[in-house]
Amino acid sequence: MGLRPPRMFRRLDRARLERRAVAHVMQAWGNSLDQLRQDHAAFRKCGDPVELHRSSEAILESLNQAFYVGSRPLELCDQPRPHRRNRQGKVVEELHGDCTYGGSIRVFLRTAVREQPIALLTFLQTLLHEWVHHYDYQAFGDSVHCGGFYRRLAQLYGPARDTLAHLAESSVEKARS
Ligand SMILES: [Zn+2]
Repeated sequence: MGLRPPRMFRRLDRARLERRAVAHVMQAWGNSLDQLRQDHAAFRKCGDPVELHRSSEAILESLNQAFYVGSRPLELCDQPRPHRRNRQGKVVEELHGDCTYGGSIRVFLRTAVREQPIALLTFLQTLLHEWVHHYDYQAFGDSVHCGGFYRRLAQLYGPARDTLAHLAESSVEKARS
């Protein structure tokens, strides 16, 4: 991507997502995350990501609307994460997903070595990670893994993970009662 002017880096590092928009998204996400959880479980069981794709798109679309950015195609790749091994055969690098400037958002659904479906929280974190790149490209024209990038990701992932934890607890309770 060439050299990034320091001013751009500072902008990307300082930016945070608007808090009211985050709160609004989280309110709307109760049902969407529950759907995502069920569709992820179905994918683990049957290996078909069609429903998971649909509920992931709903999550991304609500983000695009809340933060006034355009949409971008989503590809869920039912393949092991592309990876690189060192000379000892140990995996030293793996690609969880990506979002290039003019491309789509991609998430790889299987682990590099054992080729198992990735866990729900890993999936959600990757999906949101790639959306933050998308947001950065749309809002600033550039994206980089700076401190600010991870803060923006945490603004979304933190509360979403808590919601999923509550959902998991309440479904255990329901199963017990
Ligand atoms: Zn990234």
